[in-house]
Amino acid sequence: MKKRVLSGIRATGRLHLGNYFGAVKGMLDLQSRSAEYETFYMVADLHTLTTPHDKETLKQAVRDIIIDYLAVGLNPEKSALFIQSHVPEHLELAYYFSTVATVAKMQHLPTFKDKVKQYPENVTMALLNYPILMASDILVYKAGLVPVGIDQEPHLEVAREIARRMNQDFGMDFPEPKRFIDKSLPAGRQGEYIPSLTGEGKMSKTVEGSYINLTDSLGEIKSKIAKIPTDSGQGSEILGGVKTLMEFVELFEGKEKRNELENQYRGKGLRYGEIKSELSETIFAELEPIQIRRKELETNPEFVDKVIGEGAQKARRVAARTVAEVREKMGLA
Ligand code: ATP
Ligand code: MG
Repeated sequence: MKKRVLSGIRATGRLHLGNYFGAVKGMLDLQSRSAEYETFYMVADLHTLTTPHDKETLKQAVRDIIIDYLAVGLNPEKSALFIQSHVPEHLELAYYFSTVATVAKMQHLPTFKDKVKQYPENVTMALLNYPILMASDILVYKAGLVPVGIDQEPHLEVAREIARRMNQDFGMDFPEPKRFIDKSLPAGRQGEYIPSLTGEGKMSKTVEGSYINLTDSLGEIKSKIAKIPTDSGQGSEILGGVKTLMEFVELFEGKEKRNELENQYRGKGLRYGEIKSELSETIFAELEPIQIRRKELETNPEFVDKVIGEGAQKARRVAARTVAEVREKMGLA
């Protein structure tokens, strides 16, 4: 039997380079190996509700991520591309899972604590429940492989624990899902996140000034890269914004270029203007084909509707079977 794969992105903003390297590249890689893997990729609209959101724009934001998925090369013939809330089985299974997960464990997760810090006025039950719903997103497809960024590792640990409990207590056969790391990333980056342009923490859709979107124009990229905080261009240790800049140089222009610039930093010094301008051009060159495909897709709303409808059908067929099995094994049916 083919191994199943699940991944998702929240509809909290446009896709950025962190999502692209941390998740989307792995999603594409696994999709391309369709003889081995069956791929399910969703827009996590239910998870979007765990942080403040705008009800007027949510629907379009969700649709925009589906269009982004198509623009980067996800193929509805190969992958089920769907919207999480269109498959209500995720919610039902999450409830069953919540009966084997403790409150203490959820409260201690670093991901929970980060969001509490980011939105102290919004510490809801849904936020606490996030990892349970994510375990359900994955296990409702009995997916063993999850192409997501390193920031999601604590959630995967929860999913593995839940899988073990459900298998032990109720005789289910859930796999223990593992993170899939895209091998096209530089080796040193495979266990890390793409940094924020502010020089602190990870690039995030919901942290203003932290990201470059896949839809950004050359001008926008230039102005964002120009804002990465830098120093006089010379020194012994590479830290903060300069380190961030070097990481982007490595991602887009290779390790050698980074080494060359770092040596120069420790020697005769760097001129950031040229470096930043060249880097911006290279980033834009990678994003431009995606942007061209995106423009074409925007003129074909019927196709996008069809993808969304068929994706949900494909996903529900699998999800309904798992939920029926869990109901029976837990003694409900
Ligand atoms: P939000 O701020 O709303 O949480 P986000 O930018 O963190 O948004 P998510 O929708 O939470 O994006 O995550 C989508 C996918 O992208 C996940 O697999 C996540 O691990 C990955 N991801 C997000 N940010 C990064 C990053 N900076 N580096 C690598 N992977 C990332
Ligand atoms: Mg996130």
